[in-house]
Amino acid sequence: MGNDTLTMTGQPMLDSKSPLPLVLASLAVVLSLGLSWPAVAEDSFQNPLNSVRVAGYLEKICDLGPRYSGSPGMARQQQLLVNHFEQLGGQVTRQRFRAKNPQTGIPVSMANLIVRWHPQRDRRILLCAHYDTRPLPDQDPDPNRRKNGKFVGANDGGSGTAVLMELAHLMPELDGNYGVDFVLFDGEEFVFSDRRGDRYFLGSEWFARQYIANPPAHPYQWGVLLDMVGDAELQIYQERNSVQWRDTRPLVAQIWATARRLGVKEFIAKPKHLIRDDHLPLHNYAKIPTCDIIDFDYPYWHTEDDTPRHCSGASLAKVGWVVYEWLNSLN
Ligand SMILES: [Zn+2]
Repeated sequence: MGNDTLTMTGQPMLDSKSPLPLVLASLAVVLSLGLSWPAVAEDSFQNPLNSVRVAGYLEKICDLGPRYSGSPGMARQQQLLVNHFEQLGGQVTRQRFRAKNPQTGIPVSMANLIVRWHPQRDRRILLCAHYDTRPLPDQDPDPNRRKNGKFVGANDGGSGTAVLMELAHLMPELDGNYGVDFVLFDGEEFVFSDRRGDRYFLGSEWFARQYIANPPAHPYQWGVLLDMVGDAELQIYQERNSVQWRDTRPLVAQIWATARRLGVKEFIAKPKHLIRDDHLPLHNYAKIPTCDIIDFDYPYWHTEDDTPRHCSGASLAKVGWVVYEWLNSLN
């Protein structure tokens, strides 16, 4: 994720529909049928995502090493992801583009990966994440590492990618009228120096430009961006841009209400950080109402310690579950 502005003042909770009447109604049904409550509750609230498998995906992509734009690790990751999504039945395309290395001026080949599920369905949802990692751990406490360190971006770059890898298992059987496109953005932070003004969001900007130049027959109804969703101590507040944009606010309410319905307490229905991220080009240029799901309270942000050790499969699986149940609730 990109540079940000932090605001710490508390805000009142967003309105989200209370699940209480639903619970009472379900309880009445259970009692009238003479069923035992816990059995029903377990069946209705079972996470279909596999927390062990998704943790394995995160390990696997971090084992590829740094995955900044144009790096050998990125090339290996692209191959791994193309194979993964194709094996599970997704239609994968690479949206290629070029951008200059801001340090050397040399052009670098980049690609957004687009994975289509149920392409025949007219109502489309965009689920996205960046899959490049920052070239250097520029926030590391050790000044040598800030210049020459190794950054594998488990949470920042890896986590959203791993959740989409796991969600892919559920996409072929997705019921209803909605088709889903996963987009993995390259060049989110091919940034060596903020002082020089190296640019963020190259991939999402390119995607937004193509979307405007060649408008699809069926525009995306909603977009959901996943970034830094793997922290073992997960706390996902609402991101302030997503809440402030009028067209995106209902989406935020739906997603946090889904989390509440499922009992996923890590989603906290209050705004906290204002984050510049890939949802800005999607919303501002392409006019896709896109919210950012991000946990920006992560002590290892842009340090060498952003490793799988500080992330957890349980966190990744919970975030994926909320997104999956939200998709199901659209029908
Ligand atoms: Zn970052």
